[in-house]
Amino acid sequence: MTDPIDNIVVLGAGYAGLACAFAFAAEQPDRRVTLVDAREEFSERIRLHQLATGQTLPRRSLTELCAGTSVRFVRARVDGIDRSARSVRTSAGELSYDRLVVALGSAGTADIPGVLEHAHAIDVESRALRLAGALDRLGPGAEVAIIGAGTTGIELSAEIAERRSDLVVTLVARGALGHDLLSAGGVARLRRSFARLGVRVVEDFDAAAIESRQVIGRAGVLPFDVCVYTGGFAPSPLVAELGLPVDNTGRLLVDAYGRAPQDRAIYGIGDAAVPADWRGASPLMSCRLALPRGVNAAANLAAECRGDALRPWRIFDAGRSLSLGRHDGLVQLHAGDGRIRNASFGGVVAAWLKEQICRYTVATLLRARNRARKAVRSLPSGPTYATLEGA
Ligand SMILES: Cc1cc2nc3c(=O)[nH]c(=O)nc-3n(C[C@H](O)[C@H](O)[C@H](O)COP(=O)(O)OP(=O)(O)OC[C@H]3O[C@@H](n4cnc5c(N)ncnc54)[C@H](O)[C@@H]3O)c2cc1C
Repeated sequence: MTDPIDNIVVLGAGYAGLACAFAFAAEQPDRRVTLVDAREEFSERIRLHQLATGQTLPRRSLTELCAGTSVRFVRARVDGIDRSARSVRTSAGELSYDRLVVALGSAGTADIPGVLEHAHAIDVESRALRLAGALDRLGPGAEVAIIGAGTTGIELSAEIAERRSDLVVTLVARGALGHDLLSAGGVARLRRSFARLGVRVVEDFDAAAIESRQVIGRAGVLPFDVCVYTGGFAPSPLVAELGLPVDNTGRLLVDAYGRAPQDRAIYGIGDAAVPADWRGASPLMSCRLALPRGVNAAANLAAECRGDALRPWRIFDAGRSLSLGRHDGLVQLHAGDGRIRNASFGGVVAAWLKEQICRYTVATLLRARNRARKAVRSLPSGPTYATLEGA
């Protein structure tokens, strides 16, 4: 039985979804690609700690990004996926698909009582902006507690401390600072940077609940004026509704080609999915994995269209880079499979490198978009339905 692939729907226009939609459209401009997102603008999530501290980020309309390509952008909330009918329920109506790419990303977890009521977050733009407002209203000497010392908590603490040296910034770690993220040398660098910035670190503090002005830990309480919870990310709840196997964080388990083995019409990329055969350490939700996986899924969708063999996804995980404010940073090198090497560097070089990485992610998306535009222009029949509709 033939399985035509004329209609591809990509859910989520973050790093993974945009990379996938544009890379596919650049290769197969005469096929229908529909990109769905609840937002009208691309959210540069890896800079949300900057937004939360009053810095402005460029605005990029998804409608404008897709214009001139064969990607039709639909601004809509995805409400459900019916795999048996191969259709997606959205606030703009039903969308049928031949192949569905699930790139719905993640959101912050609220896994202790009081997070939703009493803590801020920077997992999505609207919440980062709300935090910016709350920080603005604080006077000198006010206490800011950041609960969760993963990469997001570390970057946010440094950013706040750099911009608001009049505030008391405390980063709360469940265990030892940086123990599962950094080498011993990396931790030492981080401690020096925090000391310079005036970030106070409270370690081995297992937060059990957040109340209106204090965090309750098993070993005491920590008062605050503003609290930010950066305890972790969970994938979109729509992934669970697919009824397909997921990992212990709820991410869709996909094969080396990016597909759900039990339903090969479904691809999963970005924070919403994880390769089932991952052998390395900590397959973190990250932009540095979301982008290449989006491109790989696009290549495999195009290969399916041509009837070619699919290409497995291989990652070389060289390291992790953290901003520590705008003038300092920390680069932790990894073995190619994600294991932490005893090699790190910091300072202005690391800050510069992190900034280049942030620029590179957007530049990569824009280059893929430009290729998709060029592909439409080179079609013998001229622009397709999507560009004519002004999608
Ligand atoms: C402050 C911060 C700093 C970070 N720094 C780094 C870093 O330095 N390096 C790194 O590698 N990673 C970093 N990350 C993680 C990185 O941002 C994510 O891993 C990355 O955004 C994942 O890309 P994605 O495309 O899977 O999802 P997203 O970028 O989250 O995109 C998902 C898209 O899906 C849309 N969507 C979700 N649900 C629905 C729905 N129901 N209906 C319609 N649309 C929907 C959203 O609007 C969004 O546009 C950081 C994250 C944060 C919050």
